[in-house]
Amino acid sequence: MSENLSKVYTPEEFENDMYKWWEEKKLFKPETQLELGIVTPDDPVFCNTIPPPNVTGVLHLGHAITIAIQDLMVRYNRMRGKRALFLPGADHAGIATQNVVERELNKKGIQRKELGRDKFIEEVWKWKEHSLSIIVQQSKKMGISSDWDRDRFTMDNQLSKAVREAFVTLYKRDLIYRGNYLVNWCPGRCESAISDLEAEPKETTGQLWYIKYPITSKEWRTPKGEWGSGNWAKGAKNFIEVATTRPETLLGDTAVAINKDHPVFGKYLGKKTVIPVIGRKVEIIHDDHVDTEFGTGAVKVTPAHDPNDFEMGQRHNLEFITMMNQNGVIDNEYGGKYAGMDRFEARKLLVEDLKQENLLIKVEDYTHSVPHCQRCDTVVEPRMSLQWFVRSKILTKKVINKIESQGLVFVPPKQKERLYQWINPETIRDWCISRQLWWGHRIPVWYCLSCEHQNTGLEDPVKCEKCDSEDLQQDEDVLDTWFSSSLWPFSTMGWPENTKDMADFFPNQMRETGYDILFFWVARELMMSVELTGKIPYETVYFHGLVRNEEGKKISKSMENIEDYDPLKIIAQYGADTLRYTLISYSTPGMDMNLDPKNLDGVHKFGNKLWQAVRYVLGNISEDFIPIKIEELSIEELETSDRWILSELHSMLKTVTKAYENYAYLESARDIRKFFWNTFADWYIEISKLRIYDENYNGIDPRHVLVNVIDKVLRVLHPIMPFITEKLWQQLPKPFHDQQSLMVSKWPNYSETFINKDLTAAFTKIMQTISDIRKIRGEFTVPHSQLVNAIIVSDDISLFESSEREITALARVDPSTLKITQKIDPPIKVITAVSGNTTIYIPFEGLIDVKEELNRIDKELAKLESFMSKIEKKLNSDFAQRAPPEVVSKEKNKFEELAQQKLQLVGRQKILKN
Ligand SMILES: [Zn+2]
Ligand SMILES: [Zn+2]
Repeated sequence: MSENLSKVYTPEEFENDMYKWWEEKKLFKPETQLELGIVTPDDPVFCNTIPPPNVTGVLHLGHAITIAIQDLMVRYNRMRGKRALFLPGADHAGIATQNVVERELNKKGIQRKELGRDKFIEEVWKWKEHSLSIIVQQSKKMGISSDWDRDRFTMDNQLSKAVREAFVTLYKRDLIYRGNYLVNWCPGRCESAISDLEAEPKETTGQLWYIKYPITSKEWRTPKGEWGSGNWAKGAKNFIEVATTRPETLLGDTAVAINKDHPVFGKYLGKKTVIPVIGRKVEIIHDDHVDTEFGTGAVKVTPAHDPNDFEMGQRHNLEFITMMNQNGVIDNEYGGKYAGMDRFEARKLLVEDLKQENLLIKVEDYTHSVPHCQRCDTVVEPRMSLQWFVRSKILTKKVINKIESQGLVFVPPKQKERLYQWINPETIRDWCISRQLWWGHRIPVWYCLSCEHQNTGLEDPVKCEKCDSEDLQQDEDVLDTWFSSSLWPFSTMGWPENTKDMADFFPNQMRETGYDILFFWVARELMMSVELTGKIPYETVYFHGLVRNEEGKKISKSMENIEDYDPLKIIAQYGADTLRYTLISYSTPGMDMNLDPKNLDGVHKFGNKLWQAVRYVLGNISEDFIPIKIEELSIEELETSDRWILSELHSMLKTVTKAYENYAYLESARDIRKFFWNTFADWYIEISKLRIYDENYNGIDPRHVLVNVIDKVLRVLHPIMPFITEKLWQQLPKPFHDQQSLMVSKWPNYSETFINKDLTAAFTKIMQTISDIRKIRGEFTVPHSQLVNAIIVSDDISLFESSEREITALARVDPSTLKITQKIDPPIKVITAVSGNTTIYIPFEGLIDVKEELNRIDKELAKLESFMSKIEKKLNSDFAQRAPPEVVSKEKNKFEELAQQKLQLVGRQKILKN
């Protein structure tokens, strides 16, 4: 029956076709489960919405691990008899996508602004169609069991309606407002406000400039010359000193703050100082937050360009001057001679001029953390601008109350603390949701040009609701991408409509994601869901770690062997199942995983082992063989080895199911592999052959057991390696097919009645004995064709007697000479092996040519000794001092290894000389 399986495990021969078949049969749809009668509408559901991969590129290992774990969860729950929905979709990724498309256009010599908003958006849609279809194809290669009829995109009509509903609802509840606020501004390619989370701090070596500002007095009221002439501050007597890492921002200074207790500057409180360049006069003020001990003890206050100064500006009602434009260019009105210059160019020149004017006290090297744009790596500029905000304090307070009263499972639990630290209503800042982009959901607010009223609503207004003017203008900005992503668990289900999917699948059961987007995404989903639906959006949040290389380094495009980590290359070489198994066998919730591409080989070998074992079993089954299901076999009828393997099988089913339930997928993968390879294939298949090939045997046919075990193993392995398990399972004899496909068939229950610890102990003993004899055969190079004589001394005579057939066949012992006894006087001219209370004696006379073996040992010993003395010499020379410690210790280890080998040879020599 094995003719449908090719000789070697070759995933590319069947993975794509298998996926097509699943799709054609609509097996990914929860409705199909109902139609097939596998579940009823009352059965529990399992819904996971895939974290929308953004449309900017191709599948990478981050996507691959996400798919591997989520698809495992969905397939497992589907087989557990739950109505399972794995909802796919993608995110429009505002800034990221706009950047990519803009870059592509630039290559063709086209500028975004020349193209215009509508044309540009058309280009982005084209790009989206193209790049999304690539991502979808690649996800399918991973075996993702998603219902593609429910594929969603954050800018679809229906999801856009959800965004509109959310915005308008929050606006009406006064949870969204527009205001002037200090935001992180990317003056680079993005030219947009970005969120705090998108501004990544980077350790940067910069400088700290100490500058002095003249204080006005009777003698010196105003600058005495042009800025840069060297006479600007001529005649000034008193100065106040400040230090800054961004000297150019002094163009926006509107105060200098000190603490009134400052020993030197305290006396200047209330006096006026003149800001260099355009000569603005500002007051020296007291602020409790200024630390006399820090820096010079006085600070320049630039309310429109620094978060602390912004607050100080509000406390003291200072003027807010924006001295820099959206692209990082110095403003015309406030820039003086630096107007129109890039911020860094202006900085250089300004510092020169400060020197010229004798206002630069000193410069120090200074390492500090500077926020960089996550998208384009530009230095982020804190900048005041008019933006839209979500009131985070109110929303997070509700989230915490809801979680505390209703519960939400965090895997691993410590991620809850991380979340709580971030959503702390005391410290969280309002969420800036407007972006100065074209690609995204345009803010649904229309400003009345007659009365300035802000109009919003579910329909586009034709006239102002306050003054009836038709002179309306829509806000130019779009919403932060995370605004639409935060609605994902319910916008994908049809919210705000009362759809069937909303009733069936919301709240979802699972949110599975990388821990790196806990704040970006999970926190915001919680905020939106609790406010808009009154519910926590899912029952469990599971976080996986990042995939790193074998040395624990982040995998980045600049790595030399980056191709080794390309999931598509890996799939082409090894198949998707190998990649999935490998990723899962590394993954512990919340922990980063170090992926060693070398391990793919080993996993592929496991796949091949599985393939070959099933092929072998099927090759021994004729078309008319009707296997009996294990549940219908009575234990008494079975032979000891059958009962043993079934006991091992059910123990495995028990621990593996428990591991799946506890998200210990690494253990599931490991235990299935260990059982199948080390127990079933290495031992039971070999043992069963003795009966299959014995024409005189007329007891229970071990092929029933073989097929039963294989069926169960394929089932529990399916969520991890879906393709190979389905392919092999399809070949099994019919009685095992409760469904047309393994992916919708039942999870195998374990049964305690099969589990027998005594059998495990007994069989471990038999296997140990067989291994011991094999080892001796190997050490003394006994040819395979030659049988050995053996004496087994043990208290368990009956156990060994009942396993004579296995021992003699697998250890190649002459059955006519095998002696099993409880006691014996120690024989001579034997090789001995002891393990536990079992002793094995193998007489060597007549088995090996003692003289020749001793000669061989002598030669080997001589070789070893000369090698050892060389190393010894080396270690005693000055090499030990000169060479790096790891090289020296390598040599020492080598020596130890050789010493061990020598000891063994001497032992053998002694045995033979007896
Ligand atoms: Zn940027
Ligand atoms: Zn109006």
